[in-house]
Parts: sequence; C-alpha cells; structure tokens
Amino acid sequence: MIHTPALIVHGGAWDILDEAVEDHKRGCSNAVAAGWRVLAAGGSALDAVTAAVVVMEDDPTFDAGRGSFLNADAEVELDASIMRGSDLKAGAVAAVRRLRHPIQLARLVMEGSEHVLLVGRGAEKFASSRGIKFCRTRDLLVGRELQRYQALRSRKDFHVREVFEKQPRGTVGAVAFDNSGSLAAATSTGGTPQKMPGRVGDSPIIGAGTFADNESGAALSTGWGESILRVLLAKTACDFLKEHNDANRAAKEAIQVLEKRVAGKGGVILIDRFGGVGLAFNTPRMAYALRQGEKIFKIGI
Ligand code: ASP
Repeated sequence: MIHTPALIVHGGAWDILDEAVEDHKRGCSNAVAAGWRVLAAGGSALDAVTAAVVVMEDDPTFDAGRGSFLNADAEVELDASIMRGSDLKAGAVAAVRRLRHPIQLARLVMEGSEHVLLVGRGAEKFASSRGIKFCRTRDLLVGRELQRYQALRSRKDFHVREVFEKQPRGTVGAVAFDNSGSLAAATSTGGTPQKMPGRVGDSPIIGAGTFADNESGAALSTGWGESILRVLLAKTACDFLKEHNDANRAAKEAIQVLEKRVAGKGGVILIDRFGGVGLAFNTPRMAYALRQGEKIFKIGI
C-alpha cells in the first residue's frame, strides 16, 4: 500500500523576536523543501529527516551546527539524535565539538556501530575513524552568539529557564512519514547558552528529545532540556497516540504533562502512524513548517 507522505520540521520553541521571524520561516521552509524532495522521490523517512536537519544545521538562524550557543567555556558543544520507527534503531551523539553536521554522526552511530549514544572525545574519535571532516570552532561561531556569551557571562542572576521566555532561537528537528508508511525523527542542537561544559540536554536522549515507533508515532521535543528529560517528552507524546490517535491532542497532552509535573517549557512536533501531523508548545512561539501530500503546506511561528 502506498501512503501519502508527511513531514514536519521545527526551529525551536522560544520567544522568537519579531525581527527574527522571517529568518525562522525561511529556514523552516528550506528544510521542508529539502526533506520533501527525498519523500517525493520515494525516499525513506530516515533520509528525509537527515536532509532537513542538515539544511538547518547550516543555517545560522538556529541553535544547531553553525550559529549554536556557546557554553560557559566559550566552546560550541553539540548534541544530536536520530531514530527509525520500523525497527526502533537509534543513534545519538552528545557534547561533540567542531562538527558542522552532528546529525550525520548520529546516523553513523546508528548504522555503523553497535551503540546508541557516543559522547565527547569517544564520539569525535569515532567520527575521525569514519572519515568525517572536522571544522574549526570559529566556523560554527557567529558574532551574535559571541556577544550573547559576553553579556551573559557577567550576569550572576542568569538562569537557563529564562532563555525559553526571553531568548530568540532554538534547536532544530524533523519528523517524517514516507510512502511505505514508515516514520523517522531527527534532532540537532547547540543546547542552551552558558551551559556547563559536558552538559547534555534532552535532544540526544532517546525518548526525551527524539522517539519514533511505527506502532504509535514519531515525536521530537524542543525547549528547556532539563525539564523535558524528566518527563521523557517525546515518548510521552507517542504514548498518548496509543490512546486515541489524534496527533494534535497527543502533543497538547504531552505539553500539559511537561507544564504540570515539572513546570517545564517547550514544544513537541509529531506524526502518528497514519501520517497525521500535530504540534503544541507553551513557550511564546515555536517555529515550524509542515507538508502533507501535494496539497497541504503550512509555516507557523
Ligand atoms: N532542548 C534543547 C536543550 O535543552 C534546547 C532547545 O530545544 O532549544 O539542549
């Protein structure tokens, strides 16, 4: 049976500033275009989410790849993960440096190792052994983030929760449903500004940042990682799908759990096992774009 493909991407759930809205819309739309080219040609959900995330990692609008936040040591440390719903295979990397496309390394962990999650130096060693080229930290750095680092460094009262209410950019991710009826999800992030070196958020943690299961659905989280981790937000959203198969309702219920149980902030995007698309967030804004079949295309903030 041939299914109608679907694709949704997000560019973070934060208080996206008015002046950054157009860049977010353009970035999300470019990512959907890249992922859709794969799906429209009959490609897999896994290839589609990889293609979409690579485009967003290259776009300095987002906190992923180039344009990422700096940590407290003025380093860029990146997290990414990917999961396939047909066999629950997953790959992830955390706290990796000097990589333009951590999502490609996460995929290599999934397809070319017996592990699910590699971190730091070990992940970088694995990347070298597979011929992945490293860049310089400064290739990932944009002036805007250097200025943010300098401004936040001098503040004693800074708490990461405030970035989800006041700061303008976030993580990226894509969820896809292909014409064979298979799901996949992928996410990539620079984490949060001023994070401690070695801090790992929700994004590379399967079940928290990313989840895909052809028997329920595929979901991604974005927002305040320390809260998302504690409620396994992506898996929680997919569990709600098992109850009623309403993608928007499942996303809303997952965000209610995040808010009520841990006073969390963030957003969820997901696709159910029939290709239905849903999203919800409790931050001021979330950037997203979606496509379902040839007719439905939507960009939102
Ligand atoms: N969830 C990410 C983290 O805490 C940040 C984000 O989604 O923008 O690392």
